[in-house]
Parts: sequence; C-alpha cells; structure tokens
Amino acid sequence: MLVHINADLPLRPSPISPTVDYDRDGVQHGFLKLPYSRDDSAWGAVMIPITVVKRGEGPTAILTGGNHGDEYEGPIALLKLANSLAAEDVTGRVIIVPAMNYPAFRAGRRTSPIDHGNLNRAFPGKPDGTVTEKIADYFQRYLLPMTDYVLDVHAGGRTLDFLPFAAAHILPDAEQQARCVAAMAAFSAPYSMMLLEIDAVGMYDTAAEAMGKVFVSTELGGGGTATARSVAIADRGIRNFLKHAGILAGAPELGPSIRLDMPSGDCYLTCEDDGLLEMCVDLGATVQKGEVVARVHRMDRTGAPPREYRAKFGGLLAARHFPGVVQSGDCLAVIAVPQE
Ligand SMILES: [Zn+2]
Repeated sequence: MLVHINADLPLRPSPISPTVDYDRDGVQHGFLKLPYSRDDSAWGAVMIPITVVKRGEGPTAILTGGNHGDEYEGPIALLKLANSLAAEDVTGRVIIVPAMNYPAFRAGRRTSPIDHGNLNRAFPGKPDGTVTEKIADYFQRYLLPMTDYVLDVHAGGRTLDFLPFAAAHILPDAEQQARCVAAMAAFSAPYSMMLLEIDAVGMYDTAAEAMGKVFVSTELGGGGTATARSVAIADRGIRNFLKHAGILAGAPELGPSIRLDMPSGDCYLTCEDDGLLEMCVDLGATVQKGEVVARVHRMDRTGAPPREYRAKFGGLLAARHFPGVVQSGDCLAVIAVPQE
C-alpha cells in the first residue's frame, strides 16, 4: 500500500519568537527566542541576539555572521555595527544577526554542539526538527521573505584560510546574477569571486537566491580567528553593501578588487592521505599548471616519499587547509583564476 504524504499540508508555525518588532521604527536590540528544554534548563531557550534598525519606508537588508560558529569577522563587525547604527542613519530597515548558529558560535565550533547541525547545510529547515533545523526554518520562512538584500559574512573557520573575498554565484537568472555581482563589487573586498560550490544543497545562499534576493557572501580569512585587516575589510564592506542597497547614504568606498573565477571542480585539490601538510605556495601566490601546491608527508616513518598535489590549471592560491595535520578528504587548496 502506498503511504501518501500530503505535501500541501501547511507547515506549523516556527517555535522561534522574536523579542523585536520588525515593523517598528527605531533601534531595537533583542533576541530570537528558541525554546530548548534540556537537563540544565527545563523550560529554557536558545537566545539568538538580533538588532533591528528601521526608519520609514525603503529596502530591507539582512546581515548575518556566525552561520558557522568558528568564523569571526562577521560577528565582530556586526556587533560593532549594531552598537553604532542609529535610526537616523538608515532609509528602510537593517536586520542584524551577528551569530546565526548561536549555539555553534558560543562553542567556537563550525557546527552546533546541540545536534551537530551545520546551519549552512540545513536549509530550508524544519519547524519541528532539530535546533539547527528550527533556526534555518525561521530564516527561510520569516526573515528572508521580508528582505531585499542578503549579506552572509563567512571566513575559513578553524580548518581553512582564504584570500579575503566577497562572492556571488552563477545563477540561472542572468538579471538576478548581475544584481548580485553589482552588490559583490560594492562590498569591495580585495578579491571578488564567482564562487562554484562543491554542493549547494541546503545552503542559506541557495535559499536566498531561490527567492530572487540579492545575495552576497564572503570568505574573509580563517584559521579560527580574525585579524585587524580582515575585520577592517568586513567593517567597510558591510557599510558599502548598505550604501549600495540605498539604506545608508553615500556612495560605497571602492578600492581595488581582483575578480576571480572558479572554472570547474578542478579548482579544489582534495587530500587523499592522512599526514603532515607542507604548503609549497602561500595564499595569493601565482601557480602554474602542474606546479606542486602542497606535499603530504607520512607521519609514521622516514624513508617514504611525500605525495605531491599539483595545480590542475594556472591561477592563484585562493584558499588552503589551515591546520598542519590533514586527513584524506580534506580540502587542501583552492586555485582560482584571475579574470582578464
Ligand atoms: Zn562559513
């Protein structure tokens, strides 16, 4: 007998309740309150910080960090922005969530310590799912629909390090892609990347783009920390993004930005060994096709040659594995091609 699941049944409402009123003018600091009953707090909740700054009519931008909990430029820059933005500064509305996956952020981890959920693989989420799925569902059905411009600030976290770039994706709708590319250019990071995802299913990016939003993400550094330089890029880029949206007054402060492409999956060099990583080129360096980018040495003996990992085409090193010890399956490096 066929079991029929009625896909037309409406989803239940989100269990998340905001302590802010999205329609009220002014500056509000509050929380997205997500009930989470557990051993140390029977009727407890996960309290995700949120700021809403609104004045009059105009576009809405949502700015997020901490989608992965071990990436820090977004949370730092967005906490500063939330503390400094006045209602008089904006035309329209800015919604700031410095740490989307708040449990992961508090733990300093990429994924949630509660359910091991990777928020950026959990979309569209579920209102009756895990804590991570409930967060995704709230963004999917409540926050994204009320926005026009979406900026999600990432970095490499504890296991990757990146050249600082803002990114847009190749999209089926050329007009929407052009709007995303224009917003990426306005962010004006030192590099601007047309990003090819390994697997775009379940990403916040994909959810926002499918709704026709102007979506920009970034990778601004990595290694599980932020630097003065990477935070300055985030600070300026976020304000530039809001100026581009027409929410903050003035023109974006544009600096030089090198446009990069990822022509195919061959951009990614994937490790096939467990061992000790020797990077042979550093971030930003030019590599030729066939050049050795990294070696992985055996850790358990002498007298064995390391395996060499070579660039499959010429370009520059845009990302690398950060820790010195690697496992089979790790992303060792990403080669990107500067646009002519
Ligand atoms: Zn990330």
